Amino acid sequence: MLELKSPTIDRSKLLPASLRDDFPILQQIVHDEHPLVFLDNAASTQRPRQVIEVLRRVYERDYANVHRGIHTLSERSTEQYEEAREKVRAFIGAEKPTEIVFTSGTTAGINLVARSWGDANVKAGDEIIVTTMEHHSNLVPWQQLAERSGAVLKHIPITDDGLLVLDTLDTLLTERTKIVAVASVSNVLGTINPVTEITRRAHAAGAVVLIDAAQSVPHLATNVREIGADFLAFSGHKMLAPTGIGVLFGREELLDAMPAFLGGGSMINRVWEDRFTPAELPAKFEAGTPPIAPAIALGAAIDYLKLIGLENVQRHEHELCRYAYERLLEVDGLRILGAPPDRRAGLVSFTLPEPHAHDIAQLLDERGIAVRAGHHCTWPLHDRLKIAASTRASFYLYNTPAEVDLLVEVVGEIRERFRPKGRKRRGGS
Ligand code: PMP
Repeated sequence: MLELKSPTIDRSKLLPASLRDDFPILQQIVHDEHPLVFLDNAASTQRPRQVIEVLRRVYERDYANVHRGIHTLSERSTEQYEEAREKVRAFIGAEKPTEIVFTSGTTAGINLVARSWGDANVKAGDEIIVTTMEHHSNLVPWQQLAERSGAVLKHIPITDDGLLVLDTLDTLLTERTKIVAVASVSNVLGTINPVTEITRRAHAAGAVVLIDAAQSVPHLATNVREIGADFLAFSGHKMLAPTGIGVLFGREELLDAMPAFLGGGSMINRVWEDRFTPAELPAKFEAGTPPIAPAIALGAAIDYLKLIGLENVQRHEHELCRYAYERLLEVDGLRILGAPPDRRAGLVSFTLPEPHAHDIAQLLDERGIAVRAGHHCTWPLHDRLKIAASTRASFYLYNTPAEVDLLVEVVGEIRERFRPKGRKRRGGS
């Protein structure tokens, strides 16, 4: 009989498990007896005490509206809000704080670009390039822009292994291409896309590049200048910060030339009865009262990630993901979607012949394991893979090998329970 080599884990690559003590929400028992195993981090992460404490301090001591009031609390809030912008700038290597626009999340940032930059620059017959693996957030806004403008939407295809077929890019790019919008990491396949290379080629063709960095900024060190990105969007809630806060990075020259998007308070310089002049960057794109405390807490989340070191976070997740990838393949009939471990970030999506992904997620939940099931807002990708749904386990800095072991054990049990009667397990040890 074939001797299978058991996957092992290199503990020297992991972060200390004591780090979990920082996350009160992880210390709970669900369904009366099962310690919570939280493997739904690609959807949203949890917050450490250090971030929760900052939120509490802001609301207990410092909170007031920013930029407008000439009083102590408003000054404190404004100072901390702008400090958070500076932390974001440094974290992603942007040149100036004016290039950092606070939004409500990745979706809002991409829509801002599609509406403001898109409506001003994309005309009938122009071309927009996306990929087959995009989240609906980086697809539907471009479909809407194509509908409004008469532009043509093109897709970089993927291989069966979940990698972009980059050879097609040179034929897809033409003098009519206005923008290439691509995810740096797929939220389903985990593929790390070569965004620097894509950006270089797009620029050579005269197109601008938007990067959907929702799944990369929280996990992989990011430098917008090294990538050469024109726009890059991400969400706070996927990197230990609250919901309702996100970031759009845009090169100053582009943001400056773009018309204001949402109109209202804060985004104006002067208003008359019949017209207005827009404020300077970044206020021009921050209409209305912004998410003040969430932005300050995003700054605290960045402090926390920097303390741990993003390179350590990345190594930890990569090791866990490789281990999960290899161990899940022990389950007979399980199919992992996408790239091999060395080309992917910390998540694994899979299917079983039986049962349906939603049932797998529910059965895992009964044992305290939180995963996500469905099409993960990537319907065209699931069509391409000829599957209706998948189950996704996604890791962050607080996950452990013991949690991966439990996941594999319970998935194995589910597989056995739903195996058609009379069918023997194939091969294996
Ligand atoms: N893009 C990708 C790749 C994502 O994974 C997500 C979140 N699942 C989004 C965009 C949208 O992020 P948000 O819902 O925070 O706007």
